[in-house]
Amino acid sequence: MGNSLFKKQTIRDIELVGKTVLLRADYNVPLKDGAITNDYRIMQSLPTIQYLLKHNVRLVICSHLGRPKGPHDESVSLKPVAVRLQELLGKQVSFVHGNFTEAAKTVASLAPGQVALLENLRYNPGEEQNDVEFAKQLASLADIFVQDGFGVVHRAHASTEGVTHFLPSVSGLLLEREVDTITSVMSQPKHPLMAIVGGAKIADKIDILHRFIKIADFVAIGGAMANTFLKANGHDVAASLYDKNELSVAKDIMSEAAAEAKKRRFNFYVPQDGVVATKLDKSAPTRIVDWSTHVIAEIENYPKRPSSQASKIAEHEMILDIGPFSGAFIAGAIQLVDTVVWNGTMGVTETEGLQGPVGPFSHGTDLIMEAMLGQFRDSKHKPFSLVGGGDTVGYIEQCGLVEAFGHVSTGGGASLELMAGRKLPGVEALMDKNAKGSESNHER
Ligand code: ADP
Ligand code: MG
Repeated sequence: MGNSLFKKQTIRDIELVGKTVLLRADYNVPLKDGAITNDYRIMQSLPTIQYLLKHNVRLVICSHLGRPKGPHDESVSLKPVAVRLQELLGKQVSFVHGNFTEAAKTVASLAPGQVALLENLRYNPGEEQNDVEFAKQLASLADIFVQDGFGVVHRAHASTEGVTHFLPSVSGLLLEREVDTITSVMSQPKHPLMAIVGGAKIADKIDILHRFIKIADFVAIGGAMANTFLKANGHDVAASLYDKNELSVAKDIMSEAAAEAKKRRFNFYVPQDGVVATKLDKSAPTRIVDWSTHVIAEIENYPKRPSSQASKIAEHEMILDIGPFSGAFIAGAIQLVDTVVWNGTMGVTETEGLQGPVGPFSHGTDLIMEAMLGQFRDSKHKPFSLVGGGDTVGYIEQCGLVEAFGHVSTGGGASLELMAGRKLPGVEALMDKNAKGSESNHER
C-alpha cells in the first residue's frame, strides 16, 4: 500500500517475536441452533492470525458475540467459533470458558505459535461499559494489543478503547484494509461515483445520504427506505413498511438533492415501480405496480393504456422489492460509473424462493448485483464496488458472490460511520504511524 491513508501502526510495524499478543477480532457471526450460518468474518480474520503465528507469537484472541441475556447465556457462546477456527487454522485453539484466573492459566501454558480464544467478552458488563478494571485484566494477559475487529471499532468498549491505555496497540491487516479502502473511496473516488442505498432504517443512513449528495454523481434509493421517500412525496404506499418519524428528514434530503442537481450534474433517484404482495411469503401472488412511468404494466398490449390499478398500490399490499423498470434504470446507470458504493438491499431478500435462495422479492437486488459485476445484458462494464451492511453482505454471501465484488466490508455500523466521515474510537486509540519510539521495521 504505497500511499496508504491509514495512519496507524500495524502488526507490520512492531516487533512481535517472543511476544504474547491479545487480538481483538469480530466474531459476531450469525448462529442458528448453535451452528454458524455464515463464517465470512472468521475467514477475513485469518490473514492477521496467520501473520502473527508466522512470527511465533503466543496468541490470545477475544471477541463478542450477539447480546448475552446474562453472564452465561449459552446461546451466544463463542465455542462454535473456536471449533470453526480450529478447523480453518488446522491447529488447536484452546477455548477459555471461564474467568480471568482460568484465562491467565491457559495463556501461561501457551507455547509460541499456539492459540487461545476467550469466551464472549460481553458476558462481562465491563466490556460495553468500557470499565477500567476489566480493560486492565484483559491487558494483563498480553504484551501487545492488536485490533482487527472492524465491526466494533465504532464503539468505545473495554476491548476497543480501554485496553489500549495499558498495552502498545496496533492494527491488524483486516482493519487496515477496511479503513484504507473505505476512506479512499470516500475521499478520492474514481468518478463517476454512484451510491445505492437501500435496506430498512433510514435513521441509520441519513448521514451517508447527506455525504453522498455532496460527493456522488448519482444516488439511487431502494428497499423499505424508498418507501419513506415515496410516502414523503405524497404517494400512497398502503401497507408498505416505511418510517413515520423520518418523513420530514426524507423531504429535506430530497430538497438538498434537488438543490445539488441545480449546481452540477447530479441525479437522485427514487424507484418508479415496485413488486407488491399482500404477504411476505415465498408463494404469495405478486404484481408490479408502476406508479410513475405508466408503461410497464401493459407493455404486452401496447398501445392500450394500462388500467388505473396498475399504477396504484391496493389497500393491503406492500412494496417488497423495486420493480423491473427501476431495476433496469439503476442497472443502466451502473454502466456509466466507475465506482459504486452499495449499502442495503433493494427488497426483502430473506424470503427464500420455492427453489433455492432467490425469492420473489430478491430480483431487484439480483439485477443491480449483475450490473455491478459486469453481467448486465452483454455489457462487460464492471465498476469498482464497495459493499457494506450486515443484511446486504449476508445476501451476497448466500449467493456465493463475495469474491466478485471490489470490497465487501465486515462492518455494518462501523462502515456507515466511516463513510459518514466520523472518527472511530477503536481506531483513534491505536498508535500513530510516526509516533516516537515506534519500531519501524517495515518488512515488506
Ligand atoms: P444492511 O443490514 O445491509 O445495512 P438494513 O438492515 O438497513 O440493511 O436493511 C435490510 C433489511 O431491509 C432486510 O431485512 C430487508 O428484508 C429489509 N427490506 C428491504 N426492502 C424492504 C421492503 N421493501 N419492505 C420491508 N423490508 C425491506
Ligand atoms: Mg441490517
